Amino acid sequence: VLAISTFYLQNQAMVAYRELVTRLARLNAYLQENITGMEVVQLFSREERNLRDFDREHLPYRHAEEREIFYYAIFFPFTELVGTLGMAAVIWFGSSAVLSEQVAFGVLVAFLQYIRRFFRPIMDISDRYAVLQSAMASSERIFELLETPTENEGGARRDGTHHQRGGTIEFKNVYFKYDEDAEDWILKDVSFSIGASQSLALVGATGSGKTTIVNLLCGFYPIQSGEIFVDGVEIKKWNVDQLRERISIVQQDVFLFSGSVRDNVRLGDESINQARIEEAARFVNADRFIKKLPNGYEQVVAEGGSTLSSGQRQLLSFARALAFNPEILILDEATSSIDTETEQLIQDAIAKLMHDRTSIVIAHRLSTIRSADQILVLHHGEVRERGKHEDLIQQGGIYARLHQLNYGGTTAQQ
Ligand code: ATP
Ligand code: MG
Repeated sequence: VLAISTFYLQNQAMVAYRELVTRLARLNAYLQENITGMEVVQLFSREERNLRDFDREHLPYRHAEEREIFYYAIFFPFTELVGTLGMAAVIWFGSSAVLSEQVAFGVLVAFLQYIRRFFRPIMDISDRYAVLQSAMASSERIFELLETPTENEGGARRDGTHHQRGGTIEFKNVYFKYDEDAEDWILKDVSFSIGASQSLALVGATGSGKTTIVNLLCGFYPIQSGEIFVDGVEIKKWNVDQLRERISIVQQDVFLFSGSVRDNVRLGDESINQARIEEAARFVNADRFIKKLPNGYEQVVAEGGSTLSSGQRQLLSFARALAFNPEILILDEATSSIDTETEQLIQDAIAKLMHDRTSIVIAHRLSTIRSADQILVLHHGEVRERGKHEDLIQQGGIYARLHQLNYGGTTAQQ
């Protein structure tokens, strides 16, 4: 009886527990999202609605929790009950046996002790079993994560030639989509090549696939067809750490970690000393605002960098990119407009960063685009035009039209 009940009730509890941990994860994600997005929630007066959504998220969690407690609440008293019934049976049958002098009184007492000794370990085992079960349910989730295939760890490493700066990039007929099952390609037959220390500007409407090209180059996603070469080695064969070591990205939305300005520049790389950090900051014109901060380089920025302006965040990310002295620089310019003075500082910083380095810039600033060795115009994931600024203006295609719209027909003189 005990074995069957243990098996049944524990199994039910385990099912409930499994659901509980999944629900808890979702609940936590929901909370995290709403707390970080609190400003938006308040601005759009979504408090009531989100509270209702929260109820919807947490009720299943509570129900799972209640179910789990319910099974345990039955299980332990039930085991106790079976033990007590056993004892009662021993006393019942034993006492009549003693009275009819079939067994000695001492035997009965001994049996009562045995019963207790028998049930104590069983209770203990089922108690441990319960702990084990919940640990199993949790570890299932951990192993699920651990079993995710790791990124390419082996493959090409920097060999003896690393002192000679490389940085050539080649895309050959690359087809790519984020979602394997999607019908449309995000990138269609994209080919281009950049020589060492050359620069490429990516231009195109929003959603045309510019950031996607960058993501592929960093090896964040596998491509469906085609080839990508970095320094003549196919990207699949690169060791991802080694690959990313030579690339620095200034991303569209700069991410800062909670910590000091200094730590945000060197990102925990102890080999980058204070002098190098200051030099990088000075070089990209970030030192001016850093010096004005109450604690300078030791100033602690809030998570996500919310205590700095977006222009300041960008300058800081330039300093970060430079401190690592990458061979390949990728710049995903933010579209947000900044005051003219910061704009000047940023333009100057970009020019310095790109100097003598293979660079891909996703550019909105005319100055950055114009100075690029090659411009690639993307349209719905396809390369529609390529060439230098003057040639593309001459062609009178998409680029010329974009240029006309953005910079107001001053093309002839520029
Ligand atoms: P913008 O100028 O606005 O930054 P973009 O050219 O950088 O645009 P991408 O970010 O490359 O555009 O996006 C290209 C397409 O891929 C878009 O249609 C977008 O919806 C889709 N996309 C982008 N990132 C993902 C992702 N992580 N998962 C699925 N689809 C994505
Ligand atoms: Mg983008």
